[in-house]
Amino acid sequence: MPKLPVWIAGAGLSGAVIARELAEAGYSVDVFELRDHVAGNCHTARDPKTNVLVHVYGPHIFHTADYEVWDYIRRFGTFRPYRHQVWSTVSGRVYPLPVTLATINQFYNSAMRPDEARAFIISQAEQIEAPVSFEEQALSMIGKDLYEAFFQGYTEKQWGRSPRELPASILKRLPLRFTYGGSYFSHPIQAMPETGYTPIVEAMLDHPDIKLHLATELDPREVPPDTHLFWSGPLDAYFGYRSGRLGYRTLDFEHSIEKGDFQGCPVMNFGDRDVPFTRISEHKHFMPWESHQDTIITREYSRECGPEDMPYYPIRLVAEKQLLVDYVQQAETTKGVTFVGRLGTYRYLDMDVCIREALDAATAFLTAQTSGERLSPFLVSPL
Ligand SMILES: Cc1cc2nc3c(=O)[nH]c(=O)nc-3n(C[C@H](O)[C@H](O)[C@H](O)COP(=O)(O)OP(=O)(O)OC[C@H]3O[C@@H](n4cnc5c(N)ncnc54)[C@H](O)[C@@H]3O)c2cc1C
Repeated sequence: MPKLPVWIAGAGLSGAVIARELAEAGYSVDVFELRDHVAGNCHTARDPKTNVLVHVYGPHIFHTADYEVWDYIRRFGTFRPYRHQVWSTVSGRVYPLPVTLATINQFYNSAMRPDEARAFIISQAEQIEAPVSFEEQALSMIGKDLYEAFFQGYTEKQWGRSPRELPASILKRLPLRFTYGGSYFSHPIQAMPETGYTPIVEAMLDHPDIKLHLATELDPREVPPDTHLFWSGPLDAYFGYRSGRLGYRTLDFEHSIEKGDFQGCPVMNFGDRDVPFTRISEHKHFMPWESHQDTIITREYSRECGPEDMPYYPIRLVAEKQLLVDYVQQAETTKGVTFVGRLGTYRYLDMDVCIREALDAATAFLTAQTSGERLSPFLVSPL
């Protein structure tokens, strides 16, 4: 039986993994990317003046517990071990994040041991049964002082909303540790690609049966009949925004070149409300094996995403979820398309999860082709 042609919207990790898997299975694949480069949001590029590798759309650290994904991505490039560190400047003082024993002792000017600190934090935490909002969750985990210093202002700037309006689930991801030091992430595998993410995605797409069309926005109406489409662009864009726009936060990046070492760590958060940016990334610290005289830093500002802006973080509050239900229902009645990735499923996804879901989407497609069963438009429900 002749193989169905496959078109893919987006040359980020999701699109590239699916393209590679299907090309290796003998399919002819066309990948369309509206930007003039591959790798989507994890794109990295050398700055011509300093030769520092810049994480163009914000800092990206590879971390996972999925060993299959780890084996898969290393087929396309070399990774180096990397331990991420984040610090936070609050009221003119600098503290380590996430909140650890070091943060607690420095903040309270104390020398508590782990059990003493644990008991102290329990005494500070507010008794809130079943916290609903971000604020309630934080108050019930760490109490008012640490919440106000490290989370309240930062979260307001990041989401443009009071933490009282945000769901508790956002904070469930932030750990509290009663030990010193350690990495920002707790996954067993934490690494950085030796020459950046973009060469890795380029290597994935380097296959005789993959045709890449850069700087080409795919309009779903242009997809020929009897072609399967994988859509890693925004879910609402596929439907021409006919029910309205799903809410996103966008980011503005302000890059500057400085001398020497600007801040001594890869990422510095700023918890104070009167500092307009949320964090500063210093790119050369993402590659500690390289040495550079000058340095590039990026201030990151978060704001509501307009129609002309790049969507970054899905907001997923009550209004957005209602609209999402509407689009998911429309997708369920659409044939010949699979929605994938962070934009196609309107979820925040780390890179390892994107790769896992893309591998699973490719397998599901191949299985449906041989069994003749209908392929669901979503491998994982966005709801
Ligand atoms: C600021 C920030 C920091 C992050 N940090 C980390 C981190 O440290 N670790 C981690 O694991 N993950 C991180 N992530 C998540 C990571 O960026 C995603 O997991 C990953 O990039 C998603 O890949 P994707 O292919 O699904 O989407 P994307 O990378 O967004 O790729 C989708 C591509 O589709 C293109 N496109 C859209 N519409 C069309 C169209 N109609 N036609 C053609 N092309 C189209 C877009 O231009 C884009 O290039 C971070 C995300 C952000 C926003």
